[in-house]
Amino acid sequence: MKVLNFINGEWKESSSKQFAPVINPATGDAIGEVTVSIEADVDAAVKAAKAAQKKWALEPAPKRAEVLYKVGYLLKERKEQLARMLTMEMGKVIEEARGEVQEGIDMAFYMAGEGRRLFGDTTPSELKDKFAMSVRAPVGVVGIITPWNFPIAIATWKSFPAIVAGNAVVWKPALETPFMAQELAKIFEEAGLPKGVFNVVNGDGPTTGNALVEHPDVRVISFTGSNEVGRKIAEKCGRSLKKVSLEMGGKNAVIVMDDADLSLAVEGIVWSAFGTSGQRCTACSRIIAHENIKKELENRLLEAMRTLTIGNGLDENVKVGPVINEKALQKIDQYVQIGKEEGAKLLTGGYILQEGEYNKGYYYAPTLFTDVTPNMRIAREEIFGPVASIIPVKSLEEAIEVNNSVDYGLSSSIFTRDVNKAFTAMRDIDTGIVYVNAGTTGAEIHLPFGGTKGTGNGHRDSGVAALDVFTEWKSIYIDFSGKLQRAQIDIDE
Ligand code: NAD
Repeated sequence: MKVLNFINGEWKESSSKQFAPVINPATGDAIGEVTVSIEADVDAAVKAAKAAQKKWALEPAPKRAEVLYKVGYLLKERKEQLARMLTMEMGKVIEEARGEVQEGIDMAFYMAGEGRRLFGDTTPSELKDKFAMSVRAPVGVVGIITPWNFPIAIATWKSFPAIVAGNAVVWKPALETPFMAQELAKIFEEAGLPKGVFNVVNGDGPTTGNALVEHPDVRVISFTGSNEVGRKIAEKCGRSLKKVSLEMGGKNAVIVMDDADLSLAVEGIVWSAFGTSGQRCTACSRIIAHENIKKELENRLLEAMRTLTIGNGLDENVKVGPVINEKALQKIDQYVQIGKEEGAKLLTGGYILQEGEYNKGYYYAPTLFTDVTPNMRIAREEIFGPVASIIPVKSLEEAIEVNNSVDYGLSSSIFTRDVNKAFTAMRDIDTGIVYVNAGTTGAEIHLPFGGTKGTGNGHRDSGVAALDVFTEWKSIYIDFSGKLQRAQIDIDE
């Protein structure tokens, strides 16, 4: 498959004439190629978006929402086909790929509903015969930059609220996963979205992504990706006072108290730590275990990990797929070496799988360390692979302190049967998402999604909160007194 840009309703090759290969991480095979864009392509897309946005914003919001309903139905109709394609370009197992497409479906219907809400406020004026209200106004052209690990879901979290609110979008997907971008653009086209409201420009970060960030007509950048890149983008946006929403990395923990249902905790940990081969921003990479159950938990986790089938995600029996590429494999392996040097005890895994069917793809053995201390690098830095570390603690207070001690603040979980401990943790844990008796993954699209501290900059994807990124508040005062009434001055008349 040859993937092109989608600009102003047309499929176009970049004038760079350069193409990058699309590699199936499960087999190492090239399964397509994608056009690599330069500044001129970004500029063309932004121009198209700017022109289309004015008209689009004048459509009544319920009319705009009708397109999203159609998008939702098309995603639903094509769920299986999209999921298979997603697994081929990104590697996650087919069941999770179906779940990811489902997120897009859910978001389409949820945000379509916003077309008949987009609530503002009416509020009394302090003056007689005066009316006051605030409404949400679109920002204009929205630039979206996304990572490869959720190639369709994240784009739907961002583009659907942006579009229903009356903005136009230019999306730069990750170069590794362009198929989903192409399929989403086709769906928007079939759903009847006017030309130019949704555009896709493929390319790398430093050239294509940067051109979007620097473009003066892009009024908001919504970014999901690594902390390192997010910081650079925020600095650039700061200089031009561009609105920027950042969703970045995590170092998420599951706390297991000594009263927990250990079977449930093990299920939750295995799903959160090794699902998507640990390449979710919400993946559990720290297990903060009460010392009384630490040994028992280790044994049970090892037993559960032995049952994990590793392989090509298209096989329904496979539970852990490949990681994205060779670079990721090497980074994960380096962290494992660091962990060993730091004195962590390796219980299982810790190596690249190379024999037989693993020879061509990028597979890492699910890995578990124990006796990890909170200051070790493997307990603080995002590894983004199937590697989890057990950190023993003596109390709930210590568990929460360790949980909160990292630079990131995305997701946390606690397994306990004690309601007091659960509520204490819910209050004192400082991450944007908290689970009780479930793993660190499993966000639903109608709640705000995002994190504190190094994970974000105070914005949220998903839920009504997403609309805050893509709208400006406009306050409106209507005076029907027929005379000049001065606020704060003519209040006693
Ligand atoms: P990345 O930061 O390397 O790339 C993300 C996107 O930014 C890509 O499209 C890339 O091309 C682009 N980019 C890179 N350099 C750029 C630049 N200088 N200017 C503009 N754009 C640039 O991240 P990745 O490796 O694709 O994804 C993994 C990361 O994403 C992990 O850190 C993970 O935790 C994070 N993530 C966070 C969330 C969340 O919601 N918090 C969700 C998924 C993934």
